[in-house]
Amino acid sequence: MQLLQGLRNHIGLVPNPVSQATRQARSRIRGAEVSISVCPYCAVGCSQLVYTKDGRILDIEGNYESPINGGTLCPKGAATWQLIHSPLRELRVKYRAPYSDHWEERSLDWAMERIAQLVKQTRDATFVHRDENGLVVNRTLGIAHLGGATLDNEENYLIKKLFTGGLGIVAVENQARI
Ligand code: SF4
Repeated sequence: MQLLQGLRNHIGLVPNPVSQATRQARSRIRGAEVSISVCPYCAVGCSQLVYTKDGRILDIEGNYESPINGGTLCPKGAATWQLIHSPLRELRVKYRAPYSDHWEERSLDWAMERIAQLVKQTRDATFVHRDENGLVVNRTLGIAHLGGATLDNEENYLIKKLFTGGLGIVAVENQARI
């Protein structure tokens, strides 16, 4: 032991070469709340742990307790965090009015209002309470919904609940089939 300390002194090594900054460093997910979710990107359905603090997602990683992915995520699933926080996210829509020959840029709020108005209008015009045999169906065949992989698990849950049970839309599908 003395020999080792002597050698350390000789070559200028301190006994524990860890800086104060390293000593004080903490995991960025320390104290965060963790929720279990499902990766939205494909039908494998890998389980994810979503870390949040003060209403903000800090990190998303593979759930090690899942028998499907055992803590791992493929590169696409590992980048799910960017769905929320990427500065490259598009926040405008392109709109082409009926009979127009060019696209116009509109805000997301404008698009949401326009879609809501058209859904209401179409549902009112096509809603059927009973079919031709007198069976109660409470449905509309005038609207369909196709979701994409960037819809997360919770959004898909709400879409299914609102569109089928709430609005009576029959054709509700998702590209990722989660
Ligand atoms: S995209 Fe990757 S991480 Fe997501 S469910 Fe599919 S295989 Fe799993």
